[in-house]
Amino acid sequence: MKIIHLSAECYPIAKVGGLADVVGAFPKYQSNKNITSEVIMPLYDNKFSEQNSFQTIYSGQLNLGSEILDFEIQTLETNTLDFTVYFVKIPDLLYVDYVYSFDDTDRFLAFQIAALDWMLTWKEKPSIIHCHDHHVGLIPFMLQESFKYESLNKISNILTIHNAQYQGSFSHDKVNLIPEFNFNNVGLLDWGEVINPLASAIKCAWGVTTVSPGYMEELKLKANGLEDLLRHESAKCVGILNGIDSEVWNPETDSYIVKNFSNSRVISGRKANKEWLCKEFNFDAKKPLFAFIGRLVGEKGADLLPEVFEKSLQNKNISILLLGSGQDDVEAKLSSLKENHEGSYNAYIGYDEKLSHIIYAGADFLLMPSRVEPCGLNQMYALRYGLIPIVREVGGLKDTIIDIADGGFGITHKEVETEQIVHAIERATELYQNKKQFNKIRKYSMTIDHSWDVSAAEYLNLYQSLKK
Ligand code: ADP
Repeated sequence: MKIIHLSAECYPIAKVGGLADVVGAFPKYQSNKNITSEVIMPLYDNKFSEQNSFQTIYSGQLNLGSEILDFEIQTLETNTLDFTVYFVKIPDLLYVDYVYSFDDTDRFLAFQIAALDWMLTWKEKPSIIHCHDHHVGLIPFMLQESFKYESLNKISNILTIHNAQYQGSFSHDKVNLIPEFNFNNVGLLDWGEVINPLASAIKCAWGVTTVSPGYMEELKLKANGLEDLLRHESAKCVGILNGIDSEVWNPETDSYIVKNFSNSRVISGRKANKEWLCKEFNFDAKKPLFAFIGRLVGEKGADLLPEVFEKSLQNKNISILLLGSGQDDVEAKLSSLKENHEGSYNAYIGYDEKLSHIIYAGADFLLMPSRVEPCGLNQMYALRYGLIPIVREVGGLKDTIIDIADGGFGITHKEVETEQIVHAIERATELYQNKKQFNKIRKYSMTIDHSWDVSAAEYLNLYQSLKK
């Protein structure tokens, strides 16, 4: 069986968020002697392409409406990854130094067309085309409806929704960019009188998954306008919890962190990493260290953080470290907060993979006050490193974290409200004082298995059950 993943992101090549981590782990955990799992993604002009050499294995031209664009399919000259990635290089349009921007419609349409045009030339077609999020959401429609891809229309295809907030809608004025199809079926592209790639994929894909069971149920009630559609298509929809790449996220071998540690060395290992963080960010290592890592957007509850931090820092016995970037106004508030709280609050506004790993290894509590959390990987990384998550009961967070009051290993709150988050921080501070229980939970959480093996098996069952 050959599985092809199509995605805008894939770790370690291009990462904006969790999509990259998931697509970068899938092929490793799906491949075995009977299954090959590979990725097709855009080639970006980024650090990864700068540091690697590529060879062209196919050159072609694609039509984007009346425009003709040259493209190349490239592979790594020396493959340093555990799986094969095919890169679609389209000079000027796709080969740029960003993943997402204002011109995503044309860029990702060209990417999808190039990938399918190339696939037409394959002698052996894949068994499964697995599409991730709206950037490749028009693939199921094109496979089913575009005349030129008729020879591919028997290939089983699925859509995984990593985040339904983003749907990639664009005006019907651009319909001519999509390879010719029977116009009677244009409704399969439409949702709310615009072309909506995510909605179209939900209609046309043979199977639809979300990245946690809880998120699938929530989407049927609230999905940024797609709830009726998801309810209507519910027979082919299923939630499968993401796993984590337990090779990349392994405190025993993680090369980013200051000191490696296993479950039996959790106290000393975490202490060394915490000391590094406290020195770097000017904190007192004796106080509990709370951290936030993530995109500074409303979905993550980031807009409430300045107020939450201001209130929580009235308690002089805690420290807070933030790593993230996103909305300008939230970034500005979180930066300016540093002035009045030197020694107890610090923030790195930006993206830093290494620092994120050290925070997982060295902070005491991780804050995730998300409004929406399709799966959430941070809390699973936290557990693996013995960092206690404080989460809002939503989506994948609700599926994975049990409150200590119920015999669990995290702290949860019901709503995204300042008072509730502040209260959760207070509960965590109390837990920190109870060293015996605190350490017991840290040790236990490291034994929880969220590796991909379980989810990979569920996906395999799904692939095998797909029928048109
Ligand atoms: P989302 O995909 O919605 O952003 P996830 O929890 O699924 O959220 O995945 C977030 C991933 O991105 C995690 O690997 C997290 O560590 C990482 N991440 C987010 N922001 C940053 C940042 N500023 N620096 C480093 N890593 C980050």
